[in-house]
Amino acid sequence: MKKEPYTFPLEEFVSKEDFNKIKKFSHDKETPFLIVDLQKIERSYDELVEHMRFAKIHYALKANPMDEVVLVLKNKGSNFDAATVYELDQLLRLGVEPERISYGNTIKKEKDIAYAYEKGVRLFVTDSESDLKKLARKAPGSRVFFRILTESEGADWPLSRKFGAHPDLIYQLILKTQKLGLEPYGLSFHVGSQQRDIGQWDNAISKCKYLYVAAAEKGIHLKMINLGGGFPAKYQAQAHDLETYAKEIRRFLLEDFGEKLPEIIIEPGRSMVADAGIIVSEVIMISKKARFNQYKWVYLDIGKFGGLIETLDECIKYPIFCDKKGCAEEVILAGPTCDSMDILYEHRKYSFPHTMKEGNRVYIFTTGAYTQSCSCVGFNGFPPLRSYLI
Ligand SMILES: *Cc1c(COP(=O)(O)O)cnc(C)c1O
Repeated sequence: MKKEPYTFPLEEFVSKEDFNKIKKFSHDKETPFLIVDLQKIERSYDELVEHMRFAKIHYALKANPMDEVVLVLKNKGSNFDAATVYELDQLLRLGVEPERISYGNTIKKEKDIAYAYEKGVRLFVTDSESDLKKLARKAPGSRVFFRILTESEGADWPLSRKFGAHPDLIYQLILKTQKLGLEPYGLSFHVGSQQRDIGQWDNAISKCKYLYVAAAEKGIHLKMINLGGGFPAKYQAQAHDLETYAKEIRRFLLEDFGEKLPEIIIEPGRSMVADAGIIVSEVIMISKKARFNQYKWVYLDIGKFGGLIETLDECIKYPIFCDKKGCAEEVILAGPTCDSMDILYEHRKYSFPHTMKEGNRVYIFTTGAYTQSCSCVGFNGFPPLRSYLI
C-alpha cells in the first residue's frame, strides 16, 4: 500500500496567524478545553443580517449559552429564543427585554408558562391542544405560533418526530385559538439541524402557505413565519454557504407569498456559534486490540460525555487536526470514559500522521455549538468542559 503524506486543510478553519495565537494561548493549559472567539460570533451575526435582511433573528441559546455570547448578540440587537424558564432567567439577568424573547419549546409546564407570562413574554410556540389550553389559562392574550412537523431528511442532526404536528391538526388548533383568548400569530418549523438540503425549506414553506390560505378562508390572518434553525456550520461534510441558503430561502418565500412577505423569524443556533469554537484535546493512549489488527485505537481526553455528544451515530463529523508531519494513517477515535459508547469515530476513519504520539495535542474545529452546554457534570469524575474566550 502506498503511503500518502498526512494533510489537513487547516486554513479552511483558521488562519495560520490565528492558529499560532491559539497554540501560544493554550500551551500551558490543561486539556481538554474549548476556546471561543467572540469576534467570529459577531461576524456570523453580521453575515446573517446582511444575507437575510428579510428576517428577524432569535438566537437559540441552547447551542452556546455562555453569558459572554449572549451579551455580544444582545448588543448586536439580536432577539432570543428561550426553551425553558432557566434560559429565560439567564436572558433577563443579562438585561434582555422580554419583548425580545420568544418561548420556543412546545413542551412546557403550566407553571413555567405562568412564570414567563409574569416576566413579560408574549410570544409562544405550540403544537398541541393540551399546550394551547395551558397557554390560554396562563398567558391570556399572547401571540401563539404553531409548529409544523417536518421530516428532517437531509439533516446531519435531525429534529424530527418529537416536535410539531401535522398541518391538519395545526389547522384545527388555529381555529380554536381566538375562542381561547389568544392571538393566532404565525407558523414555525425546524427542518433539522445542520440541514444540508436547502429544498427542505421549500417543502416546509409550502405547508405554511397552504395553512395561511386555509386560515384566511376562515377569516384568520396569520402574520408570521418562523423558519427555525438548521443553517450550516463548517464540518467535514460540505454544505453550501450561508449566502446560498439565504438566496434560495428568499426565493421560496417569494414564490409562495409574493412581494408582501409575512414577518419572518429565524432561530439560528449552530450556524451562529459553531465555527467560533476550537476544542484542544490531548492523546491519552494509542493501542491495538490484537497484533494484526489493521487499525490503531487513539483515545483522546474528550469524548461523548465531555462535550462531543453530537458524534452519536457519527452524525457530526468534526474536523480534527494533529500538528505533526508524517504519513497519513487511519485510526479509530475514542473518548476517555469507562463507557463503551464513548467511541467517537469507528466507521468513518480519521487520518492522522503515523508519528502521532501519546501526549500530542489535537485541535477539534467547529466546536462552538452543542459542546460545552452538553458536557456532563461529573461522569467518571471528569469536570464539565472548560472554556476560554479570546
Ligand atoms: C435547537 C433549536 C434551534 C437551533 O437550531 P440550529 O440547527 O442549531 O440552528 C432553533 N429553534 C428551535 C426551536 C430549536 O429547538
